[in-house]
Amino acid sequence: MEPFRIKAVEPIPFPTVEERHEALVGAGHNLFRVPARKITIDLLTDSGTAAMSAAQWAALMNGDESYAGARSFERFKAVVTELTGYPEILPVHQGRAAERIVLGNVLRPGDISVSNTHFDSTRASVEATGAEAVDLSVSAFQGVPNPFGGDLDLDALASLLGGESGRRVRCVVLTVTNNANGGQPVSLRNIAGARKLCAARGIPLFLDAARFAENAYLITERETGYADFAPREIARRMFDLADGCWASLKKDGIGNIGGLIALRDGDLANRCAEQVIAYEGFPTYGGLAGRDLEALAQGLLEVTEPGYLRYRAESARWFGHQLGLAGLPVLQPTGCHAVYLDAGLLLEHIPPHQLPATAFANELYLAGGVRVCELGTLVFGKPALDGGPELPAPRELVRFALPRRVYTASHLEYVVDVAEEVRSKAAQLRGYRIVRARGAMRQFTAVLEPVQRTR
Ligand SMILES: *Cc1c(COP(=O)(O)O)cnc(C)c1O
Repeated sequence: MEPFRIKAVEPIPFPTVEERHEALVGAGHNLFRVPARKITIDLLTDSGTAAMSAAQWAALMNGDESYAGARSFERFKAVVTELTGYPEILPVHQGRAAERIVLGNVLRPGDISVSNTHFDSTRASVEATGAEAVDLSVSAFQGVPNPFGGDLDLDALASLLGGESGRRVRCVVLTVTNNANGGQPVSLRNIAGARKLCAARGIPLFLDAARFAENAYLITERETGYADFAPREIARRMFDLADGCWASLKKDGIGNIGGLIALRDGDLANRCAEQVIAYEGFPTYGGLAGRDLEALAQGLLEVTEPGYLRYRAESARWFGHQLGLAGLPVLQPTGCHAVYLDAGLLLEHIPPHQLPATAFANELYLAGGVRVCELGTLVFGKPALDGGPELPAPRELVRFALPRRVYTASHLEYVVDVAEEVRSKAAQLRGYRIVRARGAMRQFTAVLEPVQRTR
């Protein structure tokens, strides 16, 4: 059960079927464009959507809003240094600011950044420097379920480093957990392997640590020899193996906004601090209010509590199991931050260019006001150059993200019921056509229309 009770409540909207139809049409059939007041259960993302604890709300009042050298920065820095072991700490307004600043100082045109999977904003930051982002991930869901489906493919890294382009590799980034790979964890063994390959060539190893605590917890569950360790000890071992990290604190910071850069290298930190000043704010607040720093410091203490993490992993597992019992094709194993379905398996009659994952997600909204995120051809497909059908994504995934401490088991039971209803009418669902879509992140603004049934 949830290891908390509820002290403040927020009513959730219950739009009628007609209102949902109207909202979806008004949004160009794109759930990102539907106003939140028309959503009953919002599983679009786990980013910035957490419920803060009583202790976090109380900490807000201790916010020191001094421009320079605020007490709140000292507290934040002490907590982050204690957690990571890194001496150089810079707050920023969210994860992508951290990536842009660190990678902007590390990469030059023609360089290569290697990752288990660059998160989309990370890839954008790599490419903005003129460098190339290379993903070398193990396959998470092919064949036998892989307990460490988030791992970097170390053999592929070794051969890249030994080959012609090896000299161009300027950094290695491990995304923990691997968001793009089903939120699967990276093992300590894999991080140690990456460290060894990097150290031999003087290449820095960074963690994209948005979900460091969930990764640490999954290591205690899945990696041999670590069952008796506290998640905080495992997290420290992860950080010890790397040269630094950045993180969106909208995830495991249990905050609604915030990010950080944490480094060992003082020179690199000084260069980053210059950019923090230029783009974020004075380096002791970096685009955040003093009260945000207080709430995040408290969140970073709470997020490694074993009871909280056990609840988080178990509720994802339970939710995935229930969806499976309802006949939905759930990817196994589940991680912590989300449960993923392969809508391609359920909607085989809808070809990828007609966006089966979008069809499923939109129907889930129409059927019960539940908002989830499509990670199929709308996100990962590419317009064909010859004007033909879209080039499909490898899979038509739908992600049910789990905001931290927000929804109870009975909310999730409701989602399972709605998903079962959608499954029962899967054969009648129709695909979508892209009317208008632009740019690398087209899913946020695309306008779609349902494909008309042909007789
Ligand atoms: C969310 C996220 C980011 C970007 O952070 P924002 O706070 O959204 O800017 C980067 N990497 C990973 C793995 C993330 O999940």
